[in-house]
Amino acid sequence: MNAFDEAQKQLDRAIAASPITEDLHKRLLKPEREVTVSIPVTMDDGTLRMFEGYRVQYSSLRGPYKGGVRFHSQTDINEVRALAFWMTMKCALAGIPMGGGKGGITVDPRELSAAEVERLSRGWVRAFYTLLGPDQDIPAPDVNTTPEIMCWMSEEYAKLTGDTRNAAFTGKALICGGSEGRGAATSAGGFYVFEALRSRIGLPDKTVVVVQGMGNVGGGTAKIFVEHGHTVVAMSDSKGGIYSESGLDPAEVEKYKKENGSLKGFPNAEQIPNEKLLELSCDVLVPAALENQITKGNAKNIKAKVVLELANGPTTTEADDILFERGVVVVPDILANAGGVVVSTYEWEQNLKNEHWSEKDVLDKLRELLEREAKNVWERSKKLKTDLRRAAFALALERLEEASRQFIRR
Ligand code: NAD
Repeated sequence: MNAFDEAQKQLDRAIAASPITEDLHKRLLKPEREVTVSIPVTMDDGTLRMFEGYRVQYSSLRGPYKGGVRFHSQTDINEVRALAFWMTMKCALAGIPMGGGKGGITVDPRELSAAEVERLSRGWVRAFYTLLGPDQDIPAPDVNTTPEIMCWMSEEYAKLTGDTRNAAFTGKALICGGSEGRGAATSAGGFYVFEALRSRIGLPDKTVVVVQGMGNVGGGTAKIFVEHGHTVVAMSDSKGGIYSESGLDPAEVEKYKKENGSLKGFPNAEQIPNEKLLELSCDVLVPAALENQITKGNAKNIKAKVVLELANGPTTTEADDILFERGVVVVPDILANAGGVVVSTYEWEQNLKNEHWSEKDVLDKLRELLEREAKNVWERSKKLKTDLRRAAFALALERLEEASRQFIRR
């Protein structure tokens, strides 16, 4: 399944519900720039290996390009292009002064030593640094890229350019200019959006939750739901999942995975394959792994009342239609997982102003923004009599349209 085709289908469907000008449509059909590079890395055994790296700068209509860097064996230019398009929509919906971009490397980092990952990360920066910078393009973490990797990248950028403000990369560890609250921002944001919509959707105070993926986003989301009295009955990683009707302790699950490398053998829980996990009975299903997880093949079997998309692009358009018809509410990625890029923008602002904001200030600001936009998306969906994805796109497109009107380039 081609993620960029899916992204374009989403755009077409949103435009059918809420038209845009021909000019804006033309601007959004293709990225402004996309670059593929070969990155040479000396491996620990002294041999040289070449890795394919990407940066797609989709739209600068609303500000510098902004978006994460993904390290994954399935990553290719198509996936990165789709992710860069979604970043454009997400930043516009959040109303932050950023455009959309994304980057990646085709690699399974589990096959590399820490030193090799560091050399590869620095190599990615050497390949792209002339296109990056606080006023130009500001990358962040994504799948398999960590705050530590962002520190290496930020330091490499400073070495190459002499710019030591640390504002060219976000999602960094605190020690190299990261923001309080950034680690948990995507998960916290997802929870704030959920809370803002919960009673509107008609869900009870305490819900039963299933989380697919337990990295930065999935692990954090499971924890925040449990901290607020919800019950997380299932969690998974790429190798499989576990289920416990009475509820899991996400911190324990994470600890077990760290010590054992997988969830296999986790005590007092049933082992389940990933396909089954998506189809469990629950109130809230949180896909927090990769694209194209809920498709026309399994949408009719989804028993959740709400799909809270913490991953990017987990639901195909065909599945969207099936779920909508069945009354399952899909809270779209560009709203549900916007917390990461919003706090990344706060980090960038702190770096440029040489300030350090408290975690409370960061998360309060984030909550206020996301509650407002969640409400806006909900009301727009009622006005347009459509799903939340089309409504979220319609709002984002309105903001891009405003920016497009100010860019009269002849
Ligand atoms: P991560 O690398 O920290 O974690 C990814 C997790 O997904 C891992 O636990 C991995 O084992 C699991 N996984 C991979 N394939 C799977 C499969 N088929 N089934 C079940 N689990 C699987 O990555 P992350 O940063 O947590 O990102 C997860 C998703 O959230 C991605 O779609 C990413 O684009 C999106 N996202 C991340 C951020 C961020 O700030 N990190 C922000 C917005 C959106």
